[in-house]
Amino acid sequence: MLKKIQFMMVCVLAAVLFFVISNKTISTNWTQNEQSSSQTVEENNSKGEQASTEEIIDKEDVEEPIADEDTGNIVYLTFDDGPNSASAEILDILDQFNAKATFFMLEPAMRTYPDIVNRIAEDGHAVALHGVTHDKNKFYQSEQSALDEMKTNQETLENITGVRSYLIRTPYGSIPYLTDSFREVLDNNGFTLWDWNIDSDDWSLAGGDYVQNVISQIEQLDDGETPVVLMHDKSETANHLSKLLSYLQEHGYQTKIIEEHTEPYYFKCHERCYRLGN
Ligand SMILES: [Zn+2]
Repeated sequence: MLKKIQFMMVCVLAAVLFFVISNKTISTNWTQNEQSSSQTVEENNSKGEQASTEEIIDKEDVEEPIADEDTGNIVYLTFDDGPNSASAEILDILDQFNAKATFFMLEPAMRTYPDIVNRIAEDGHAVALHGVTHDKNKFYQSEQSALDEMKTNQETLENITGVRSYLIRTPYGSIPYLTDSFREVLDNNGFTLWDWNIDSDDWSLAGGDYVQNVISQIEQLDDGETPVVLMHDKSETANHLSKLLSYLQEHGYQTKIIEEHTEPYYFKCHERCYRLGN
């Protein structure tokens, strides 16, 4: 009888122990499950973040070169006042670097150097207009005189090359004498005005100093601003042009010609324009 009771007590104890232990195991498992499941969620989250970050990095890696090709690092080289005896050397050097430029030419100079005008066009550069007299007192005398000069210039260019250009740069730039009424007349006749945002000062600086002048101005331009460089058909400019072209090449710049549809860069009056003689 006593043995039976002892046996039953052992059984109950064992049952209680089993219950307690198994309960503890279950709750431990639950906790572990919760932990592991929440851990998994966090891991997934952080993996998700990582994945999207990687995706962004990947996209940036892919997109940047495309952006460079499309809009980045374009430069417009422009040469005024030609053609003349220095133009052939400028064309040779541009050719060596496979670089393209836009030539704003004077009408009498075109008639003197028609072969150069043709070579400029055949080499794939842009042919553009700079007027006839290059005399501010004559060119800016009236809206009509400015228009007449550009039309004469346009006709001569077309007779020589067969190209009808509407790209113009007025003598000494559009500020201050090209008032709004001048601009309106030129615009109504289809002409597109171009100034510059980088003045090389190659007409006044000695030797190759203009090259460093251009480079430091390019480096100071705001991001996304395309350099439009003003230079002249001058033998000193030609002599140091390869230095500038080497710099542009090394820094990933692509030279492009100005085309009729290119968004023009020009100085806006902002109350700085006034009629000549006023
Ligand atoms: Zn000029």
